[in-house]
Amino acid sequence: MNKTLTEKANSLLLHGSKKIAIIGHKNPDGDAVGACLGLYAYLKAQGHEASVVMPNDFPDFLKWLPGCEDLVIFEKDTTVVTQILKDAAIIFTLDFNALDRVGEMELILKNSRADFIMIDHHQQPQDYAVATYSDPSMSSTAEMVYHFIVGLGGQNNISPAIATNLYAGIMTDTGSFRFPATSSTTHRVIAHLMDCGANHSAIHEQIYDTNSPERMKLLGVALDHLVILPELRTAYMVLSQKELDAHHFKKGDTEGFVNYPLSILGVIFSAIFIENKQEGITKISFRSKGSFSVNEFARKHFNGGGHINAAGGRSDKSLEETVKEFISILPHYKNALNHDS
Ligand code: 5GP
Ligand code: MN
Repeated sequence: MNKTLTEKANSLLLHGSKKIAIIGHKNPDGDAVGACLGLYAYLKAQGHEASVVMPNDFPDFLKWLPGCEDLVIFEKDTTVVTQILKDAAIIFTLDFNALDRVGEMELILKNSRADFIMIDHHQQPQDYAVATYSDPSMSSTAEMVYHFIVGLGGQNNISPAIATNLYAGIMTDTGSFRFPATSSTTHRVIAHLMDCGANHSAIHEQIYDTNSPERMKLLGVALDHLVILPELRTAYMVLSQKELDAHHFKKGDTEGFVNYPLSILGVIFSAIFIENKQEGITKISFRSKGSFSVNEFARKHFNGGGHINAAGGRSDKSLEETVKEFISILPHYKNALNHDS
């Protein structure tokens, strides 16, 4: 994090009376929620008046994170959130870098006169913030929030609540510290967070060992639908709305499913297509290994984006049509897919 950014952020935060809103992206994941709640706990402890806002609900497996009861959800409490955003003089946008990632809240943000501070590790950031801390090489936004806090001089003020939230964000976005973006610095940050009160095994258990039987069975359905295309080193899965309903689908239930096909020897590109009848869309998650960029793939073909090895997208077409389209596009990438490690 450069000095100018710290100076800008510091001068914005200097006047403690400014109301602050901290926002994560739609369908918030562990990193979005952990990063936002970590920053929230820090700013509150420093005497700031802050609120944390998410466009829609977040998964149950995160509903124990310190401070999560203060989180306000736009989809549930639209009037309250609209007022929070109107009153905010500073708006932090965390774990996203394009305003269309907040769904229906986009218009309010576009019309806001607040000073925006972006902290994010996705590629190709938009230029809407007065202070942009963007670094696609970072493991997670939660790690960036740690560096941001240290940059503000807060390294000795990391409470157990801050440490727990940031640890959870880093852990979930790095696949428990195994994805390539996990650096030696990430591990040093993690070590410090443990020193500050993050209980690693309790966090791991609360997040990964609280599966419902329905979720495990839904994973079984997804794996049963697995299609492997060895010549393209690709595997994909499909879940229909009917199957989700039959397993009492709750937000977050399908999180991580897309990673399983990557554990097949030789597979470097994985996708999962999930029908969402309510929104009339097919939501897609992509994962890859090596230099095959799912960010570019999602951007070019499926109105999405993300990182080189983890991205998402969507289609207005039906589940079947979307999968058909995917299969028709794939051969164009045959060389790229076979070039990789
Ligand atoms: P997931 O597949 O877990 O939903 O998302 C993987 C990554 O891609 C995350 O970093 C997420 O922020 C990003 N992502 C997911 N869906 C979309 C999308 O529709 N648009 C963009 N730009 N990024 C997405
Ligand atoms: Mn992230």
